[in-house]
Amino acid sequence: MIPIRTLMLTAAVAATLGVTAWTTADNMAALPAGPPVAGPPAVAGVAVLPNDLSGTAGRAGILEPGDSPSPSNTPSPSTSPSPSPSDTTPPVTVARGADTRWHRKPVAIAFTATDAGSGVASTWYRIDTGPLKQGTLVVVPASADHKDDGSHLVTFFSIDNAANRETPQQVTVKIDTTAPVLRWKGVSPSPVTTQKALIARFFVREASGSVATALCVYDQYGALVLRRAGPRRAAGAGSLAVLLRAAGRPLTPGLYRLQLTLTDQAGNHSVTSLAPFRDYRPVRATVTFDLPRAGRRVALTFDDGNDEAAWARIVNTLRAYQVHGTFFALGPKVVAYAALARRTVAAGDAIGSHGWTHTDMELQSAAQIRRELALSTAAWWRVARATPVPYMRPPYGAKDAAVLSAAGASGFEHVMLWDVDPQDWRHIGSAEIAERVLSHVHPGAIVCMHTLPTTAAALPQILSGLRAMGYRAVSLPELFAAAARRR
Ligand SMILES: [Zn+2]
Repeated sequence: MIPIRTLMLTAAVAATLGVTAWTTADNMAALPAGPPVAGPPAVAGVAVLPNDLSGTAGRAGILEPGDSPSPSNTPSPSTSPSPSPSDTTPPVTVARGADTRWHRKPVAIAFTATDAGSGVASTWYRIDTGPLKQGTLVVVPASADHKDDGSHLVTFFSIDNAANRETPQQVTVKIDTTAPVLRWKGVSPSPVTTQKALIARFFVREASGSVATALCVYDQYGALVLRRAGPRRAAGAGSLAVLLRAAGRPLTPGLYRLQLTLTDQAGNHSVTSLAPFRDYRPVRATVTFDLPRAGRRVALTFDDGNDEAAWARIVNTLRAYQVHGTFFALGPKVVAYAALARRTVAAGDAIGSHGWTHTDMELQSAAQIRRELALSTAAWWRVARATPVPYMRPPYGAKDAAVLSAAGASGFEHVMLWDVDPQDWRHIGSAEIAERVLSHVHPGAIVCMHTLPTTAAALPQILSGLRAMGYRAVSLPELFAAAARRR
């Protein structure tokens, strides 16, 4: 009986598939002489089966035990040489492990079949239009090369020992191993000059249809200033309104870079490229001479940028000591020494505005001051895609109310003076410069120097001396950050 049953089941499977070639020739040849098989026992089922199983997509749910299979599957007793003629009810198969979510890992689906009459003979399944296989566990793959990404139909059914074949059922498994991709379409307005929210536009490519977003904003020096979870958003074109406030107050003006972290429904992450924008909103400018709250840190600043070789040597020495300084170069020098200006920014040193003509701004009109600042700000952007905002040092430290007002109107929140002045421009030697600096520094001191050969020569001695005294040389943004941490 067993070979016959095998043949019957094979025929039933072939009928289910609608594939006449599905015959096991080896089994046929091995058959002992016996009653000829009249034909596929499940002929009645064939009549209602579409040729392509995947065409039965309407049945995507899991068949619950209470559901009753289609009666048209019942084999005709007259043509079925069933070993259990009393069993005319097909088995019921339940699939576990499939759900409607997207998955980035392989999904295992287990089949449990029951048959009250003759018992379950076999359970069969296939993924999409793949080969029909026998078994009670199928794993829908999720290859790292993304070739399995998409929606998959798993078709399954069981056959009982009376050759009753269950109507095929289907479950859908959604695989997504590909992280979302975001392309920035623009950030506006740039520069920002009003208190309105910034609008960032982008296009998201994501197969699962939507992504969760988290927003980060970094300043010109790489400090994270804003982090916010955003709403889930649909794939395709989108936009994001960014309120430029942190800790309840507007951001300090300057250059910022937006970055989004995207997570799709399957849990694939991606981090976008940085979208820069300039915030030049008007603010109330304040004067800073030093920041004692910053602890044992000293800000070394270098004005004018007149001597290219000295400027370059200072940048190199700061690198050698692995510290940062701040440069207040005049606009024309930024243009003239463009490569050095770019190198200064790329090295992580801070920049500020010293105006364009080294004029005493207290003698200028508000419009003239704003023009001095606008020209040098534009030069930094053109040359190095960087901005001196929000740091401004008026030549000669001239900073009356009109100067502060004009500076604030252009986004220069910090008018940076100093409280340690070695007067390095007075043709004194480098040993004298170093001695004057080291004998006057204190926690949070701001040292005013110039890009002069003698100052460049004094810098190693200054940096070694600071280190020996337990001070760290820092840039102005580093000094402000340290002071804010200790507030
Ligand atoms: Zn100067």
